[in-house]
Amino acid sequence: MNSFLGVDIGATSIKASLSDSEGKIYDQSSAPTGPNTDNGSFLDSLEKLIENLVQNKQKTHPDLELSGIGIGSPGPIDRESGILISSANLPKLKQVRVVDRLKEKFRLPVYYDNDANCAALGEYWFGPGKGSPNLLVLTLGTGLGGGWIYEGKLFEGYKGNGMEVGHTTLKPAGALCGCGQRGCAEAYFSASGFSARMYERSGGKIENAEEFFDLVTKGDPNAKETLEEGVRILAELLRNMIHTINPECIVLSGGLSGSYHLFGKQLENRVREIIFPVFVGYTRFVAGGSVTGTIGAASLCMGKNQ
Ligand SMILES: [Zn+2]
Repeated sequence: MNSFLGVDIGATSIKASLSDSEGKIYDQSSAPTGPNTDNGSFLDSLEKLIENLVQNKQKTHPDLELSGIGIGSPGPIDRESGILISSANLPKLKQVRVVDRLKEKFRLPVYYDNDANCAALGEYWFGPGKGSPNLLVLTLGTGLGGGWIYEGKLFEGYKGNGMEVGHTTLKPAGALCGCGQRGCAEAYFSASGFSARMYERSGGKIENAEEFFDLVTKGDPNAKETLEEGVRILAELLRNMIHTINPECIVLSGGLSGSYHLFGKQLENRVREIIFPVFVGYTRFVAGGSVTGTIGAASLCMGKNQ
């Protein structure tokens, strides 16, 4: 049976898993990353992580044939050349030749794409949006990403950097975003955005999204106001997307989707209020997040997107 290695590069770790084309995971592992991760240490730990999984596979699942490596990467990237150009959350990485290094080492096909595109593919093949003819996926995590699967194909844009929906302007001259511009959607609805908006409102530091949603649950007025503002902005972003690409299904995935019960209904209702009535009847909203980033990345090499 064919098997695939999926690798999910994140701000705090690189995760990797070995799976089959049904999304069944046979083995997984991870290695830490952080603000001091530079090109050399990053490529070394990526290579080591994959090497360990390959060696384990030979011992524990010798029957599985390894067909390829799929990498989900933060961006911007140059997909065709397999280069990670830079990443806001891994600031020491610059022009990393990810694909060349892995192809040379492992002599396998290596597929490379941005992490939100991988998440969209994973949701399309294995998540609640499975098989949708027109699927929009928003990844709500440290940042806010987007991916779009239209009639079974991932929309890439030129060189794979399409659908950077988190950095579309929802509030001109609004809050400062991590990208350096003002008023991006990500500045209002993402873990980093919530944290920055909370700091402005209360002067307090929020360590992570769990802490933020904990404050919301406890009725903290600043947290509630921050979430309400985020929901209004995210609803406007979805209005723009719905009116532009007319999705059949919208999956909200990423780490924050675990708290969907705290904002999902409010968001759906707001979107339905502001979109054209023609869209209201058939646009589905679902909470995703059950498909791991590594499975999304592995989907790149399952031959389903060719
Ligand atoms: Zn931005």
